[in-house]
Amino acid sequence: MWLEYLAMFAAVGALIAVAEFADPEDGVWHKPPRRQLSIDAAWLTAHAVYIPLLGWAVARGATALADGNPLTDGVTRLPFVARAVAYALVAEAVVYGVHRTMHAVGWLWRIHAVHHSSTHLHWWSAYRFHPLETVIMRVLPVGAGLGLGLGLDALVPYTLAAIVITVYSHADVHLPGRWLDRVIATPHFHRTHHETWGERRNYALVLPVFDVVFRTATWGRGVPRTFGSVAATQRMAAAITAAPTRSPARPGSLPLP
Ligand SMILES: [Zn+2]
Repeated sequence: MWLEYLAMFAAVGALIAVAEFADPEDGVWHKPPRRQLSIDAAWLTAHAVYIPLLGWAVARGATALADGNPLTDGVTRLPFVARAVAYALVAEAVVYGVHRTMHAVGWLWRIHAVHHSSTHLHWWSAYRFHPLETVIMRVLPVGAGLGLGLGLDALVPYTLAAIVITVYSHADVHLPGRWLDRVIATPHFHRTHHETWGERRNYALVLPVFDVVFRTATWGRGVPRTFGSVAATQRMAAAITAAPTRSPARPGSLPLP
């Protein structure tokens, strides 16, 4: 299962990397600074190791809790398609609520700010997440779905879609036409959430439906786009990418580039 997950992830990443080069959002591919790239690579590698482990543990725990629960027997007997659609809505509602709360509550924002510290947004920036955020975002939707008796099989379509769309929605790719923004979280839709002005907009992970219902959706964007929360990028710079100590410039000398 783990190898299948990694193979699928690598295939999606490779395809989107080609799309980024072939047709970037604004016609020009923005090369990320090497330091940003190495930070993202470190987060990505860590996630590839612990997300499947976490998913397995959460599924085992929540299934054990839901097994034999008479309150959810009726839900468990529903057809697969009904349970899969129900899980997509339940998971998206949970993710929307948690994501919005993370932008509103101080200590949660400090965790989520890691994700908003990217100033160059590419597909591989999708997994720059604090480990605690990953735990919260994975445990709560899966726990809610299984706790309601939707069954493990009903989680598969949304979970696969979430993996693909999370990577896609951060990618620097151009998409002609705007109709798809209303259906799924496209790069045009989600990259706006990463803009300096757009943090309180477009919280959806896969389906923008709750952004529309709660009026947090915007279909616009900055021109040019400026990515990264100012506070988050400063914190990340201080904590992880601290530059080597330099001697102060002599009075009258020009600063080095
Ligand atoms: Zn956010």
